[in-house]
Parts: sequence; structure tokens; C-alpha cells
Amino acid sequence: MHNVYPKCEICGMTPYFGLYDGFRLGKKFICSRCERQILKTKAHDSQYQVFIQNIRRIIYC
Ligand SMILES: [Zn+2]
Repeated sequence: MHNVYPKCEICGMTPYFGLYDGFRLGKKFICSRCERQILKTKAHDSQYQVFIQNIRRIIYC
């Protein structure tokens, strides 16, 4: 097990498996649950815009 427990930038949760349970986006972290949410959210879905905005903020801030 890894000692680092990152916090997801979208939901603010720390996944059970830490770094292994998600992916890094620059210095930020996104948990696998949110990753799945993003991937299954369709472009015409209103949630999609929220996710995209969140991701843009994460990447560019
Ligand atoms: Zn998350």
C-alpha cells in the first residue's frame, strides 16, 4: 500500500486505494469513481458541462 492518500479534486474524497484508485492530472488527482462518471456522462447531459468546467479549472489553475 502507498502512504500517499490524495484527495479527489472533483468530489473531495480520498479513494480507498489512494493513488492507485484514480489518475493524476498534472499535480491534481481524480478518483476512479469520478473518472467513470466523466466517461459515462454524455455531452448533451447537463452534468457533463459541470464536469468539463471542473476539469478545466483543475488543469489550468
Ligand atoms: Zn472523485
